[in-house]
Amino acid sequence: MTRDAGAATLRVSVTDRCNLRCAYCMPEEGVPLLPRGEIPSLTELASAVAWLVARYGVDRVKVTGGEPLVRGGVPEFVAKVAAIPGVNEISMTTNGTRLAGTAAELAKSGLARVNVSLDTVDPVRFRELTRGGRVEEVLAGIDAALEAGLTPLKLNSVLRRSSFRDDVPALLDLAAEKGVEIRFIELMQTGTEAAWAIAERVNGADVRDWLTSEGAEIAPLPDRPNAPARRSAISWRGRKVLAGWIDPVSHSFCDDCDRLRLDARGRLRRCLMDDLAFPLVDLLRRGEADVAAAAASYVAGKQPPAAMTIGSTMASIGG
Ligand code: SAM
Ligand code: SF4
Repeated sequence: MTRDAGAATLRVSVTDRCNLRCAYCMPEEGVPLLPRGEIPSLTELASAVAWLVARYGVDRVKVTGGEPLVRGGVPEFVAKVAAIPGVNEISMTTNGTRLAGTAAELAKSGLARVNVSLDTVDPVRFRELTRGGRVEEVLAGIDAALEAGLTPLKLNSVLRRSSFRDDVPALLDLAAEKGVEIRFIELMQTGTEAAWAIAERVNGADVRDWLTSEGAEIAPLPDRPNAPARRSAISWRGRKVLAGWIDPVSHSFCDDCDRLRLDARGRLRRCLMDDLAFPLVDLLRRGEADVAAAAASYVAGKQPPAAMTIGSTMASIGG
C-alpha cells in the first residue's frame, strides 16, 4: 500500500485494557498488561496518527482498544485527531458500557459515530460471555449515543453456534426497534480459549440459511470492494433491517484491504494476523532519521495472511 493507493482506514488502539472479559477475546484473568512506561501518551498517539495521515492517505480513523472508554482523556484525543487535516471521519468501536456517561462529550469533541459490540441481549448470556458485564449498561449506552447523534450507529455481533438461534432474532428485533444497522461477525480463533472458539464458530452463510428457513428475506446490497462487511437488507418480522456480514474465515476480503493499525504500544501493524510490528511511536520519539523510508518498506510488505488466526488477542492489537 502506498500514498497513491487512495484513501485508507487507520484503527488506533488507545489501550489494551478492558472492563469486560469476553470469552473470545481475553482469558478470565485478563491478558498481561503493558507496563505503564511502555504505553504512549495520547498526545504521542495523536502525533503518530497525524504522521500516518500525511503519508498514507488515511482519511478515516477508528478509535478502539481494549475498551477505549476505560482510558482517561479519550474525548481530548478525539478532538486532536478530528482536527488533523485530511481526516474526514473519526469513529469508535466500544463495548458500550461507558457510553451513557460519555456519548455527549464525545460527540462534542468531533466523534462522528460509534460501533457498539453486543452479541446477545439476554442478560444471563451477556454476563456469562463477558464474565460479569451488565447488558443494561450497553443498552443505555446505545440510547445515549443515538441521542448524541453518534450515527449511523452499528451493532457488532459475534456469532456463536450454541446461541445464534436465540440471539440473532433478538438482535434483529433490537436493530429494527432502534433503527440501527447490525453487523454479524464470524468468530475468529485467537490466542485465547481456542477449543471453545472452534466449538462455537458458525459460518455466516449457515446463519443466513437458517434465517431464510425462519421466513427472513435477505437481499444483498452493493458495496465498496474493500469493505470488510457484505451488506444486505433483511425483511424480518414485517420490518427491514440493514445487516452486514463479516465472514473473515469463510470469505477472505484481504486482497482489497486498505487498513493500517496502530496498537496500544504505538506500533504500526499492517495486518491483524501479522506478528511483525513497526515501532512507529518509539522511533518518532527518539527522532530517528529515515523513519519514513523504513515505515514505507514495512507497509509495502502488507499481504494477505496465510491463515486467519491471530497469535495474540484483538484487545492487545486493537480489534
Ligand atoms: N472493546 C471494544 C469492543 O468490544 O467493541 C473494542 C475492541 S474489541 C477487540 C473490537 C471488536 O473485536 C469487538 O466487536 C469484538 O466483538 C471483536 N472481537 C474480539 N475478539 C474476536 C474474535 N475472536 N472473533 C471475532 N471478533 C472478535
Ligand atoms: Fe473487552 Fe472488547 Fe475484548 Fe470484549 S471484545 S474483552 S469488550 S476488548
